[in-house]
Amino acid sequence: MPVRPVTVVTGGSRGIGAAACLRLAADGHDLALGYAHDRAAAEDVAERVRATGARCVTVRGDTSEECAVERLFDIAGAELGAVTGLVNNAGVTGPLGRLADARTEDLRRVVEVNLLGYLLCCRRAARDMAESGGGAIVNVSSAAATLGSPGDYVHYAATKAAVDALTVGLSKELGPDGIRVNAVAPGIIETGMHAAMGDPDRPARAAAGIPLGRAGQPWEVAGAIAWLLSADASYTTGAVLRVSGGR
Ligand code: NAP
Repeated sequence: MPVRPVTVVTGGSRGIGAAACLRLAADGHDLALGYAHDRAAAEDVAERVRATGARCVTVRGDTSEECAVERLFDIAGAELGAVTGLVNNAGVTGPLGRLADARTEDLRRVVEVNLLGYLLCCRRAARDMAESGGGAIVNVSSAAATLGSPGDYVHYAATKAAVDALTVGLSKELGPDGIRVNAVAPGIIETGMHAAMGDPDRPARAAAGIPLGRAGQPWEVAGAIAWLLSADASYTTGAVLRVSGGR
């Protein structure tokens, strides 16, 4: 029997991460599903993953903390076998608003989760995958990285631009080890993130400014993630794939 890919998905309990888990399970991956707070939501996704025949472990932890990232990968390796994939997805925006009005603790949190967290996960994945002979990483960036998001969250956009730079640099660093590193850059996707930032109607309101005339759905991003992890993308590395309805 062919060996099944083992993929770590951070922020797999909701939104884009949950959709990625379901899509990857359907594609034959076994999964380590990381989440921060909502155990019930994580277990619900894990049950749906297991119903496809895939193996799935859930691991609670804050990706901005080194020990939590190490634990996530330790458990994935121990329970499922050598990790071959990472979907670096757990992210936060903080409240919407102008930089001049932002609180230092919100800026710090966004940088710690969206940048330090991604770096810690990439570092551990690079170590594990180099040891086991290769793998693939997909960083979930944002169209905000190039749009800049004035008035909404320039600090968040800045962390996502850093994720794009991380993707390009790390793809070159890890190519010789057989590790591909790519990113997806979603536009406005209908998830709970907009309510969390204080504007649940944002996707509906934004539709008029999107060439395809609507916000995206999490499964539409999951398809791009799954392709970048698949053998069909075997010569693709260092790419930032925009999934934004043309925005
Ligand atoms: P979401 O619905 O708010 O879900 C966020 C997920 O990340 C949840 O599973 C949450 O776990 C987890 N999480 C948050 N902080 C964490 C931390 N410190 N450590 C570990 N897990 C953490 O978000 P989403 O909209 O799916 O966004 C996913 C990614 O896509 C993010 O990187 C985001 O920046 C990016 N993105 C989103 C959009 C959009 O319009 N939605 C657009 C572009 C890019 P709990 O539920 O347990 O808290």
